[in-house]
Amino acid sequence: LRINETNNRSSQIFDMNHLKECIESDHVCQGGRLELIIDTKMNFGLFHKNALKCSICDHATNLTNFPTRSNGIQEPNHCIYSAGAISGIGYDATHFLLSLLGLSTPHRANFYKQVHNLYDQLFYFAHQDFLCLIDDVRRANQCELNVVMDLTVSLDGTWKKRGHQSLYGMVFLIEAESGALGQFVARQFVADNLSRTIRRMDSSSHSQFVA
Ligand SMILES: [Zn+2]
Repeated sequence: LRINETNNRSSQIFDMNHLKECIESDHVCQGGRLELIIDTKMNFGLFHKNALKCSICDHATNLTNFPTRSNGIQEPNHCIYSAGAISGIGYDATHFLLSLLGLSTPHRANFYKQVHNLYDQLFYFAHQDFLCLIDDVRRANQCELNVVMDLTVSLDGTWKKRGHQSLYGMVFLIEAESGALGQFVARQFVADNLSRTIRRMDSSSHSQFVA
């Protein structure tokens, strides 16, 4: 395997099983070698498009650093967005760490858009779950849909940070009779420039996560 010269420093993370499969299944003429051509197209965040070329007949095949997903977000970028959503680490810290390794981060706007997408999905899931639980409680109490039901509930919660500096928190609501009802509230206030990001986004994509 020969690697072509590149002027710019470029690091890529590779899915090694995918790389192995691509090299093993790639065409190479008898007595020829495979040449790795780096970044045949502009990378998107952590996802890179390269090529493998036969040194004898010049036949080239695409080699991406992760298996290509035909629609949706490519795997390494999805991992970064998920890590951002789970940890609450903002764009600047993520970008700094990745750039130390020569890795490029997806653009800030994409980062926040996708992190908020994940929160919206989580909110949707929690909301549906909440509605199911309400139905369960209504059925258990034989309460009609149009009747307002009296309930005794216990509410408790926790915040990652106290006071007005809260990044996000969680609230548990428990119905006293059955103990069945649980729900959480997750508000996320990303420290770096969330308001600036929100201004750029449409109003539907930054719902607050309050049920
Ligand atoms: Zn060939």
